[in-house]
Amino acid sequence: MSEVRELYQELIIEHSKKPRNFGKLDGADHEATGFNPLCGDKVTVYVKLDGNVVREIRWEGSGCAISSASASLMTERSKSKSLTETDALFQIFHKLVTGGELEEAETAQLGKLAVFSGVKEFPVRVKCATLAWHTLRAALEGTKTVTTD
Ligand code: ZN
Repeated sequence: MSEVRELYQELIIEHSKKPRNFGKLDGADHEATGFNPLCGDKVTVYVKLDGNVVREIRWEGSGCAISSASASLMTERSKSKSLTETDALFQIFHKLVTGGELEEAETAQLGKLAVFSGVKEFPVRVKCATLAWHTLRAALEGTKTVTTD
């Protein structure tokens, strides 16, 4: 178990040091900035839609390792997915980090996002892990800023 945990932590550290899809997205048609005042995390998400599908997604911001790694993995997973799929994935992810019970089919969909399973033991970190997802949702809904509180 501890080996698995170390592996998870490595992936989080790796993504926070070398975030994927980092930087502004030119020509984005949706964008929002999320703040987590509790920890000082800030994440801006840029999206370019193709109909109902996320064609391009990038992010920039600063904060703790968990918020950065989560934003990195969120953009990786949302690309080329439909809005319905990203919303469903957010719901599963939210359940994971808040300690909700996941069905087998839901666990199967998590993939690398499962690295955040340890977050449920640290309630104060839940907002770090979900910030990027809340910000994505805000961007798609046309809300410019979102603050977790
Ligand atoms: Zn944080």
